[in-house]
Parts: sequence; structure tokens; C-alpha cells
Amino acid sequence: MRKLSFKVSVVAAVVVFTTATAFATIEFKSGGATLRLSDANGAVESLVADGAERIVPAAEAFTLQLLDGKGEPTLIKSSEFAFEGLSRVEHVERVGVWRHANGLVVRMEVTAADGEFRFTPSVEGIPAGMLLEWFDGPQVCISPDRKLFWPEWDGIEVTKFAHPYHPVGYRERFSNDRSKSFYPGLAQMQFMAAYKDGKGVYFSAVDTRHTPKAVEWEELGDKTVRLTLQTFCGDLDKDGAWRPKFHYSLRPYAGGWMEACEIYRDWVRTLPDFAKAPKRPKWMYDSPVNLIYPVRGYGRDSGRDMKPNRMFPYMNAMPTVEKYGKLLDSRIMALLMHWEGTAPWAPPYVWPPFGGEAELAKFRDALHARGDLLGVYCSGTAWTQISSIVPTYSLEQRFEDEHLGRHMMRGPKGQITASICNGHDGQKLGYDMCLADDWCVGEIVAEAAKLSRFGVDYSQFFDQNMGGGWLLCYAKHHNHPPIPGAWAVDAMLALQKRLVAAEGSSGMVFGCEAAAATPYVPTLSYNDVRPMPGLLWFGRPVPGTAFVFHEWMCNFTGNQCAMMKRMDAFWRWMTGFHNGDMFSLVLNDRGEAVCGWPSLWDEPFPERDGLMPVLKELNAIRKKYPSFLLEGKMIRPFVACESRPAEVEYEGWGKGKVETREVLTSFWENARGERIGFASNWRREPSELKITYADGSTETRMLAPLETIRLSKNVLKK
Ligand SMILES: [Zn+2]
Repeated sequence: MRKLSFKVSVVAAVVVFTTATAFATIEFKSGGATLRLSDANGAVESLVADGAERIVPAAEAFTLQLLDGKGEPTLIKSSEFAFEGLSRVEHVERVGVWRHANGLVVRMEVTAADGEFRFTPSVEGIPAGMLLEWFDGPQVCISPDRKLFWPEWDGIEVTKFAHPYHPVGYRERFSNDRSKSFYPGLAQMQFMAAYKDGKGVYFSAVDTRHTPKAVEWEELGDKTVRLTLQTFCGDLDKDGAWRPKFHYSLRPYAGGWMEACEIYRDWVRTLPDFAKAPKRPKWMYDSPVNLIYPVRGYGRDSGRDMKPNRMFPYMNAMPTVEKYGKLLDSRIMALLMHWEGTAPWAPPYVWPPFGGEAELAKFRDALHARGDLLGVYCSGTAWTQISSIVPTYSLEQRFEDEHLGRHMMRGPKGQITASICNGHDGQKLGYDMCLADDWCVGEIVAEAAKLSRFGVDYSQFFDQNMGGGWLLCYAKHHNHPPIPGAWAVDAMLALQKRLVAAEGSSGMVFGCEAAAATPYVPTLSYNDVRPMPGLLWFGRPVPGTAFVFHEWMCNFTGNQCAMMKRMDAFWRWMTGFHNGDMFSLVLNDRGEAVCGWPSLWDEPFPERDGLMPVLKELNAIRKKYPSFLLEGKMIRPFVACESRPAEVEYEGWGKGKVETREVLTSFWENARGERIGFASNWRREPSELKITYADGSTETRMLAPLETIRLSKNVLKK
């Protein structure tokens, strides 16, 4: 066996090249960790640190997909290529080269530095008439006995890996399948981390342009789990080749989901848009409670009468606003649904308000006179042909007359459709607008301007644009590449920055559905969030986005989006408090709180009355500590807290049990480096909390039913 060992001066790492057997491998060393790639096919085989293996061998080094002129896909695996091995070149430890009979050449630079391993792929020699759609490599596999932090829906700790997988692509229709764990979107961060017994592996794209990609996992037949950062390749060079300016990072680390989120947060902090905290309106310091209600209909979006309800004219809601202001000792934001003069949820046009501007102006002025606020739900950047809720609203003729179809998003085969809330039984029949199209951007900007000029304080403008993102446009006739790429994120970010610069100057804040994804956090700092138990058959929700982004983004507990047909409301709202979220309630037209939107208004909500004093108390804590709970960052526990495991049953998008603890905790640090912690008992009986301090001393506290305590007598100095 021949062994070569040498120092790489640039990055101070050691590379060991081992050949001689059919199972020869190539080793890279960095910061005490050893990465091994197969010399037979270049796949990632092993990552060892502190004597512990962090991964399992992958079968493939990569997969990729080509599209032909008709948009038909061809998926090709690395095993269909001839692997030429990994050779040394200047400034890079190794470059792997794979050649395909069709002319494709894939290269993968591998560099060891600073305790991590960096992979930079490129794909050249694209066959004539074909386009490279996406690239998925390096491929990293883990053992299913790990827990996986998955940044979908704000953060899920996955423990059950059985679920169908397919690559992310153009979506014909909305569904709850796995085709949507898409960054930047419902996957808000571009990394995953797997861990067991405090020994973890962190896999990320270090991509400052936030190129669209899947952040997904796939259970393989052999019971291993593959992690994928399948990346769209629309940012092509002139020769059609893909040579990304970013790399993928694979590294061992110590800890669980929080430590992994710290690694990502350290990277986020280097991004220019995160150099300083967002400019927050003064009202956020008062932590207003959102009252979410429709002014038409009976709490459902379809199949019911859309006549004005008891909350219309708008002024009818003033006694309710006053009631909750008093009950919760709080400023209120009336956050309206079904208020659009067009039709409920009929993007992009919403103005004038239902019943006319004068009616809404009375309400706006009455709210502002009390120091309260006016907010509205919109529904993002889709296009409504016909409202499925109010079928008399139709833009079909205009669409035809003005040939507007040319501005809409298209699939690889020229398909035109829309995904979210689309359909006869949904909210509308329509399409998705292409945000790299000037006409679409112009219409959206003009509509937003009407809201801000009117004096709306908050617009949940990008509701249905999950994570503030948009989906995939392949239109060949648009003024952008025919394959999705970072250009699409640039387009959405330009739109949001334009809106914030123009309309934000009037004080109007913009939001989206679910926490904003990384590139959109600086522009969307207040959003409708909720853990989605319907998706939690994978494991349990963890506050990943709050942990990473709370200094820049403070969300609210949202409208629940049908997740809470039945769930323990105290657990739900206390979880929101510990995520650092502001509060919201969904009301019926009698001003009574209901489980959520769009639950039936006669659905039982047993905790309704008991919830109000709890929210009042929690919001008082929020108002007392804005440097932590509005502006601060979430940190790892500075004292160890133990309480008994518990389960919360839910019924909504799905039905099942969420694993939790009897006592919820969170820990915070403000800009001065001071720290604070809180613990809440969400149960209706006393719960015990064992606290172990840094010096090893312990204390057992008995928390009264629904009690929240501070975990230190004083705010702690770092
Ligand atoms: Zn387009």
C-alpha cells in the first residue's frame, strides 16, 4: 500500500492519498476530522471525528437532471459516468472528474479547511439541445438512528424517516407531499444536521446568493437516509456549463439542533443584509395582539355564503377591539380577512376594500385614535382568473384581451397553472405570476402602494408565498434563463426591497406565511407562523428559525391555518411565547376566539376563557423585556432544565401526538450580552422543574398550573 502525505499550506490541512486495492479511498484531514471518499466512484464514504463515525457510505457521488427541448427530463446518476479518480491540482486538494458517454463532464473540487470539507461542483459539456436543470451532490447519507434537524416549517427534529421522496420540481398542483421543502421558501435555511449522543454532522450550502434548492431527505431501500441539497442550475455560463460560485460544506460538530443552528447563524451574520437589526416600528415594542377575523362569511373560505357578517361595517368590530384591549391589557391590531373589494383571497388585486374606502377609513381612524393598529391579509403573488369563493369575480376577459398569459410562470413544458390554494374547492382558479417579469412586478407594487397610502399598518402581503419565496419559472419566452436559479431569488428580493423602501416609509410592515426564509428575513420581519403538527409525523417541532433569526425577525402566532381543529391551546400559545413570537387570536363574528382559521365557528374551544389571563400575563412579560423577547437572540440553556416528558394530542392537518415536556423553557441574550430564561407550565396541574446550575447545584421548582417563571432572580450578566 502506498501512502502519500503532505501539508497544504494555504489551508493548513493534511491530505492522505491511499490507493492499491479495489476499495481504495482518498482521505482528507481537517481539524482532527477525517473525510474519506471512494476511489472507485468518488462517493462520500466516511466522516470520522473524535473517534465517532458521523455518516454511512453513499452509493452515488451525485445525480443530475437534464431537460430536452420539450422539457422532458433525464435523470443521470454518477454511476452512469466513468470516474477518472481524484487528482491533485494547484490550490485545491483534489478534483474528481466524471465523464459521460453523452459528453457531460462533472468535476468536484474537494478542499479541507478550518475543520470542514468543502465541495465545489461544476458541470460542463451539456449535450446540444439539452439544459442542465439541477445538480444533487455531494451525496451524504446518515444512519436512521440519528436525529435530523430539518429546517422545514421553521424547524423539525426528524426521528421517523419513513416517507415517500421525489426530487423537487415544477409543481402542477398544491399537495401535502414532499415536493415543497424548497429553499428559500418553506425550507427557510440551507442546511441540515444529523446527530446522536452529541456527535453531529452539519451539511450546508454556503451560498450567499441563495440559489433555489431542495433541503430534503430520502429514506433509501437499505434503511439509510440520504440528505439532499438538490440545486437548480439556471445561473449558467455562456457555454451552458454550470460553475457555481459557492460550495457545499460537510463538517462534524458537537451538539444537537441548537449547536447546528449556531453554525448557521454565525454564517448568516456575515451576510451584508444582516449587518444591523431591522428598523422596527415603535408599535412592536408594545407587542400588540392581533385579532384575526373576516368581515364576510362564516369562517370558511369556500362553499358558504359570503355575505357581510356581524363584523361589517368595519366599525362594528370596535367594541370587540376595546374588549380585548382591556382583557389583555394590550394594544390591538385588527388583522382583517375577506376584506378585499375584489373577492376574498383573490390576488393580486385587493383594492378598494369591501364596502369602499370611506367605511374602512372610519375604522382605521377609530383604531388609530385608541393607539391600535390596522392590518390586512393579502394573498401573495398569484393571479386570479376566477374566484372559487365569489364566482362572479372574474378576470378571464381581461386576461384574454391583454394576452396576460405571457407574464405568468411556466413549467418546463410551457405548463401554466398555480399551486397554493388553487382549484374549484380552493380559493381561486388562476396562475402564478413570474416575479422576474416587469409587468407582474408593476401590478404588485401598485397594489401595495394603495394599502400603504391608505394608512394600513401591517400587510400580510406575501401570505401563500411560503417563507416569502416563490416557485419555479421555466418560461423560455421570459427575460430570464429558462431554468430556475439565483436570478429568481434576486428578483423576489428586489421586489421586496422596492416595496419596503417605497411603502415601508409610510410605516407599513410586510409579512409572509411561515417564517421568512434566509434572504427575505431583512425585508419580512413580522410573519404569520405556526408549528405544523400535520407534518409532524416525522418527529417534533423545534424553533429553528427563531433560534437563528430572532434578532432580525419577530413573528406572531398566526391564524393556525387549519392546524388546530383540536389541540391544547395553552401548549400552543405558550410555545409561541417561548419561540419569541407575538400573539394573535382568531375570532368569529361575535368576537369570540375560535381554535383557528378556517375552523368551523361552532368547533369546541374549551380553553377559550382560561386563555385570556394567560395571554395577558405572557404579553406583560414580552412588554417588560423587549431587549430579549423582541430584539434578542435565542440561546442555548444556561441552566439545565428537566421536566417530565408529555404529549399533546392534535387534530388538524393530521391527527396524532406531539412529543413535548411538561415545562417549556427558552433562553435569551440581548445586545448588551445580558441573559434571561423563562419556564412555563402549560398544564392544568402543577409540574415539577429540576434546575441544575453551572456550579452543579440543583433546585426543584414546582410550577403552578399555567404559571410562567423567570429562571434567574436577576437578568444575568454574561
Ligand atoms: Zn418567468
